[in-house]
Amino acid sequence: MPSGPAPANVLSFEDARHVVEEHASHLRPQGKELVEILDSVGRILAEPVLADRNFPPFPRATRDGYAVRAADVANMPATLQIVGEIKAGSEATIKLEAGQAAAIMTGAPVPSGADAVVMVEYTSRKDDRVEIAKGISAGDNIVPSAAEAKRGERLLSPGTRLDHAAIAIASSVGRAHLLVYAKPRVAVLATGDEVVDIDVPPAPYQIRNSNSYSLAAQILAAGGEPALLPIAADDPERLHELIADGFEADLLLLTGGVSMGKYDLVEQVLSEFQAEFFFTGAQIQPGRPIVFGRTPCGAGAHAREKAPEYKYFFGLPGNPVSTMVTFELFARPVLEALAGMQPSKLIFLRAKLKSEIKTKPGLKRFLPAQLSGEFENAEVELIPWQGSGDMAATARANCYIVIPPDREHIPANEWIAVLMR
Ligand code: AMP
Ligand code: MG
Repeated sequence: MPSGPAPANVLSFEDARHVVEEHASHLRPQGKELVEILDSVGRILAEPVLADRNFPPFPRATRDGYAVRAADVANMPATLQIVGEIKAGSEATIKLEAGQAAAIMTGAPVPSGADAVVMVEYTSRKDDRVEIAKGISAGDNIVPSAAEAKRGERLLSPGTRLDHAAIAIASSVGRAHLLVYAKPRVAVLATGDEVVDIDVPPAPYQIRNSNSYSLAAQILAAGGEPALLPIAADDPERLHELIADGFEADLLLLTGGVSMGKYDLVEQVLSEFQAEFFFTGAQIQPGRPIVFGRTPCGAGAHAREKAPEYKYFFGLPGNPVSTMVTFELFARPVLEALAGMQPSKLIFLRAKLKSEIKTKPGLKRFLPAQLSGEFENAEVELIPWQGSGDMAATARANCYIVIPPDREHIPANEWIAVLMR
């Protein structure tokens, strides 16, 4: 078996992203658990949530006013006899006959016989009679029973990330507990002779391991469970041991050691695990040496039910900003698929460029930037930085400006793509 780094396979950003999405679309989460509704926020739903009754369960008034028969108010002004009052939370026992109206409140059931609600603003009441000053059509200010959903209809699908809107649905069908997917375990392996852990005083020529921690934060935010491995020295045997440990997890993220340097050993050691490399670079900045691949699962894994056949890995470039950006661009969709999420496309938003940008063509760039402005006026500008090691500039940023590879000069006031952070 030939060993050593795979031949370079550098893709455009879009091609690399599509390769990742294609592999992610075949990945499945590894388990489920039942959790309390408020513990499910941000988790991925593992069951369909069905309507246990019609939504709304009764024809619902959407305004305070008078329930009427539209035909009775065809000619203005019309005076109707008030036969009762229906408030939210009370049953509509009245049956409206011709010439009659019922006072009604928002959220109350519309009585039978009525087919519209006139807003109180267009009425004036004298004793048990009400004068209607504005014409109305049948159906106005009423949501018919089951118009939003029918009993038994699916309101939420497995794969949905449970945000506040989904939580509203779950509560409205009386679900105090929800079945969610188990969080995938993501092993993080930082490499580099110069890298020391954060509780160790660094020598003048050493740097602290920030990548494992920034990645852990990104993994948590994306719905994974980070497992930080010890830092690997640039030594093939130690790397081999720690990579083997990393493949115990559902996904392995390595940082550093994927460039062209003499001690960039990650690809070489991964190929000792029969790794398949889908790409070993993307035409981007930061993060050009990004590596994506998989390795067949070793013996033992077969015993487990529905065990995956492959373990996927990313070799993320070690520069701190490259690590952050390549996680968002490439690792996130794989993690989300393992977490059970339905695949989603990466979409950039647009903002107006505050000051011109000059750059070299050839790479798609994701540069730290500050989004400002207010309401419809989103403005963005680059944050001056020292390159892909400059995490201080990146910490001041709140987004990345996306520059296509064919642009050398982007004038101020152009609407430009932005990757939100
Ligand atoms: P490499 O990709 O290994 O060539 O590393 C590129 C740059 O990123 C070097 O300046 C490294 O010192 C730095 N670096 C690598 N790993 C880490 C890490 N875990 N935390 C912070 N910086 C790192
Ligand atoms: Mg290194």
